[in-house]
Amino acid sequence: MKSRKLLMIPGPIEFESEVMQCMAVPTPSHVSPDFIDCFANSLKLMKEVWQCPSGQAFIIAGTGTLAMDMAAANLIETGDKALVISTGYFGLRYAEILKRYGAQVDILEAEVGNIVPLELIEQQLKSKSYKLLTFTHVDTSTAVLNDAKRIGTLGKKYNVLTILDGVCSVAGEEIKQEDWGIDVVLTASQKAIGVPPGLALLVASQNVMQAFEQRTSPVSNYYGDWANWLPIMKAYENRQASYFGTPPVNLIIALEKSLQLILEEGLDHRFDRHKSAGKAMRAAIKALGLDLLSKNEYVSANTLSAPLYPSQIDTNAFLKSVNQEGVILAGGLLPQLKKNYFRIGHMGSVNKNDLLATVGAIESALKNNGYSHELGLGTAQILKHF
Ligand code: PMP
Repeated sequence: MKSRKLLMIPGPIEFESEVMQCMAVPTPSHVSPDFIDCFANSLKLMKEVWQCPSGQAFIIAGTGTLAMDMAAANLIETGDKALVISTGYFGLRYAEILKRYGAQVDILEAEVGNIVPLELIEQQLKSKSYKLLTFTHVDTSTAVLNDAKRIGTLGKKYNVLTILDGVCSVAGEEIKQEDWGIDVVLTASQKAIGVPPGLALLVASQNVMQAFEQRTSPVSNYYGDWANWLPIMKAYENRQASYFGTPPVNLIIALEKSLQLILEEGLDHRFDRHKSAGKAMRAAIKALGLDLLSKNEYVSANTLSAPLYPSQIDTNAFLKSVNQEGVILAGGLLPQLKKNYFRIGHMGSVNKNDLLATVGAIESALKNNGYSHELGLGTAQILKHF
């Protein structure tokens, strides 16, 4: 397989072959009994993976941005106050989305590579009465991890609906949606959920569904309106056919398979595996003498890492060189620092061999592009830690 490359970007990721096989089955009707069972089962399994037994799951054709858009469209009415806790590019995207629906948005922005201190969030919540707050569990532009449990708890204390953008965390970082009191946990299929791009996934608390029912104005987004989708989700849950927009049948068959594999692995085991991968990758990067964008271990994501380039290196040639070594990595995403760092995804099915191959490719590419270091220091850390 001469052209085989290892895809180590922060989504889409490498998918399990059993999941990919689902993409190739002859597409059944979306109202066939087998598919109705599959849809019902996927909704049920989502609530297990999200650890939100009383929540309402939604599976909609779209991407993570649609899931963000949908939560905003259905919960915001003109003039509502919203607080965005931003740890990077996707936090700021959420602010833009909320403004589109007429929210008055305040943003608490972290310094690059860090989180917003909890005390500051609490101070802000005390100072004003917000309808909702959003935060990014792992911001894929900075590899910063927020403390979802503590932010969820604060939301409850101040009676604010909490929306967690879990696009780069669900099924990779620990989330106990119901225990932690988080009202919406949303994601996309192509990251730690382990299904090709094309699904917007979210679980909403009963609290949120009540807030939606109490709206006094119609939802201004037709495709995303829960009034259109809720009856469909309920019908499939009750194993009945229903239609609003044609579901992406093969993606949902693949989703059911991937959720089954996630639960077979066991959530605790899976979260620990991601922690080990994150720790091993960070240790490897540091052993090569490179710094990370995330400021310390406590705020570092386990689903991706964002190393800073050493100053001596030809950054344009570096990613090309990694690619020639058979591994695909991503460039920087924060507009102001784009050229200063790169990103390595390590989520989903990632294993020790993937990490070794990736760090090996990075070591060679660094060497080939003018950075002098002793070969093997990074891979040794993977062997030691993972
Ligand atoms: N939020 C986060 C944290 C993300 O990483 C991404 C995608 N990289 C998105 C939202 C948007 O998801 P999508 O690209 O599927 O629209």
